[in-house]
Amino acid sequence: MEWFDPYLNAGFLTFGIMNFSSKLIEEAVQAFASLPGIGKKTALRLTLHLVGQDPEYSRDFASALTQMRENIRHCKDCHNISDNDICTICGNPGRDRSLVCVVEGIRDVMAIEETGQFRGLYHVLGGIISPIEGVGPEQLNIDSLTQRVQQGEIKELILAISPTIEGETTMYYLSKKLGEEDVKISSIARGVSFGGDLEYADELTLGRSIQARIPYRNAHDSGAGS
Ligand SMILES: [Zn+2]
Repeated sequence: MEWFDPYLNAGFLTFGIMNFSSKLIEEAVQAFASLPGIGKKTALRLTLHLVGQDPEYSRDFASALTQMRENIRHCKDCHNISDNDICTICGNPGRDRSLVCVVEGIRDVMAIEETGQFRGLYHVLGGIISPIEGVGPEQLNIDSLTQRVQQGEIKELILAISPTIEGETTMYYLSKKLGEEDVKISSIARGVSFGGDLEYADELTLGRSIQARIPYRNAHDSGAGS
């Protein structure tokens, strides 16, 4: 490791055009640099770090990525990311199966789990309705949500979707689609996700907003005779 550090500290490798004397190094740098948020300099630093370690380190690193990518899947029930057909949340007998939190993506599940204040299950839509981006309801996990509701075990759906125009459209669509079913529909309290996505809301606020949820229809169709 040490024999490479002086070069890094001197910095001359990271300036100017990167002319690699090694095709192997160049390919590794390109692989790192293809990741979001990783520039060429950082990619080079990471690559040289690997060069300085035992070959086993790189092997374990690559293996972790390959194993993850080849074996990760979506839970058959809630579409959360999972190592098995059914995720650990759905498979946990201690969770309240009558309560389902509907979210846009898996990072929302992680954010809500982080609060430690929700003991129900989830349903991951896999996006939100966005005509501009060509995402319609049929591309989202909405049919499977309807099926789950129709199985009768779910008493309440909590729509934990950011109140953007697309988010509102999605919530409205879901409330219409599921309005005839025997299920209560609520949404998380407003003001949670101001300026951004659920995943950025702080844990306490997000946790509280789930506790202090409000009936969806009362809040959004007010004036329409409830
Ligand atoms: Zn699941």
